[in-house]
Amino acid sequence: MMKMTSTERFAARNAAILPSHFYNIKADLPVAPKPPLHPGTKAPLQPADLEPVFSKGFIAQEITGERFVPIPEAVREKYAVYRPTPLIYASGLRRALDTPAHIFYKYEGVGPVGSHKSNTALMQAYLAAQEGIETLVTETGAGQWGSALAQAGAFFDINVRVFMVRASFRQKPGRRTLMEMFGATVEESPSPSTNFGRTLYEKDPNHPGSLGIAISEAIEVAVGGKNSKYSLGSVLDAVLMHQTVIGQEADRQLAAAGAEPDVVIACVGGGSNFGGIAFPFVRKNLKEGKKTRYIAVEPEACPSLTKGDLRYDHGDTAGMTPLLYMYTLGMDFIPAPIHAGGLRYHGMAPLVSHLKDQGMVETQAFSQPAIFEAGMFFFKAEGILPAPESSHAVAAAITEALEAKKTGEEKVILFNLSGHGFLDLAAYAKNGNGSAAKK
Ligand SMILES: *Cc1c(COP(=O)(O)O)cnc(C)c1O
Repeated sequence: MMKMTSTERFAARNAAILPSHFYNIKADLPVAPKPPLHPGTKAPLQPADLEPVFSKGFIAQEITGERFVPIPEAVREKYAVYRPTPLIYASGLRRALDTPAHIFYKYEGVGPVGSHKSNTALMQAYLAAQEGIETLVTETGAGQWGSALAQAGAFFDINVRVFMVRASFRQKPGRRTLMEMFGATVEESPSPSTNFGRTLYEKDPNHPGSLGIAISEAIEVAVGGKNSKYSLGSVLDAVLMHQTVIGQEADRQLAAAGAEPDVVIACVGGGSNFGGIAFPFVRKNLKEGKKTRYIAVEPEACPSLTKGDLRYDHGDTAGMTPLLYMYTLGMDFIPAPIHAGGLRYHGMAPLVSHLKDQGMVETQAFSQPAIFEAGMFFFKAEGILPAPESSHAVAAAITEALEAKKTGEEKVILFNLSGHGFLDLAAYAKNGNGSAAKK
């Protein structure tokens, strides 16, 4: 007889790698980030201020000072279906680039809806279910977050209502189907069904929308509804903390290969997959004097880190959210409808903003043609099609690898491949399948 927890039954082989805790970088930061402020009084936000919006369990995780926060068994069990995600040595890419660099990527595209978003969706739906919350309302850009929460809601018996940015809704009809298959309700944003949405919808029923607008609509519905709360897929401290399963696994997987990263790269929309892969390594810079570099990569069309200002701003467009101290392009910024819909956000996670401000994070921006070219190059070399968001990280990893070729350095590059691009084939047909593909 052998006693096994359910996590071990599901993933006996990988149980040693699957993390048991989330890592909370706030416990290790030498300088504390500036606190969020109440949107009305401008005083530091109190936990009670958030109660109309978020579940109590989520608020507790948002403000905790605990360094390691346990992952509940019911959530680990769901993680074990797709975690640990593979850490892949990019031998094809290395050969294609003829670089001495060693490139590893963490492939989050094996998640049930094709991106890292399930890591926090499952935890948030679990916390809501613990409190008997019936409905979670949210926004989604490209649809990855909406799909992840729709699925997590189906697992934990929570209704999910999604406001989807109109530009993406029209580019990616497959994402809507996926959300509806999980039982979620999906509306184009700006929509005629909220007070805020109506003000924009009535002026222009084809308004492309933005994440900031969709967030305002979702909060309005969540706060006005019965036993309903709002759920956010990025930006917040707790969301970045949930994503640290990525970096913790990568650390253990690299250690098994006898490697340590010289540079860690991820794309940034709200900053969650970047925080997720980077923070467990940043801890070693802070605690063990490691010199690892970190690069956050964004689109030129939405350059919050490379061109934005560090200041207090709202997380949404209507000004309903607390004021967050972050790099921002301004709450009314409407980015061009690029295909990397998950990166069309005007702000940046306060924790990522803080690390950039502290000089610990470098930033880069790429154009849409450049990232499609990088995505196609990677696809041919490695056989995995990256999401357009993830292709930003690919482009930066290629740039680093070519730099290493000049210097002859065998540096170790780790990047996060945050999602696959199989629901973005229409975008590739338009942007990647032309000259870049045939070169
Ligand atoms: C949502 C998303 C992103 C951007 O969000 P972050 O919070 O910055 O991680 C990046 N890649 C994919 C595949 C996504 O779904």
